[in-house]
Amino acid sequence: MDSHYEKNNVAQTEPINRFNLYQYAECSKPDVDRAVFFPNKNTARTDYERRVATAKEICARCIGREVCLEIGIAEKHDGIWGGMTEKERRLYNRSRNSK
Ligand code: SF4
Repeated sequence: MDSHYEKNNVAQTEPINRFNLYQYAECSKPDVDRAVFFPNKNTARTDYERRVATAKEICARCIGREVCLEIGIAEKHDGIWGGMTEKERRLYNRSRNSK
């Protein structure tokens, strides 16, 4: 199978959870710059936005995105988790809890 559901040519053989997330995560691939997932808000706005956009592009093709998002929400981490910034995760979580 040739898809993003493989990491380093290892096919997914189990459900994704918090313990095996990085075995399949797009951001754990060796050619990915992990720094883009933790953009510094004190840098130039354009640099911050470029890093966020790059991280989101990577997250968009990640099979572990939903698990990652829930971890990011539950543990209130900094940076991009599940394709969302901290603020976006807060708003998303608030929105779904109000339904
Ligand atoms: S959703 Fe993004 S930050 Fe989370 S594991 Fe996947 S690539 Fe990494």
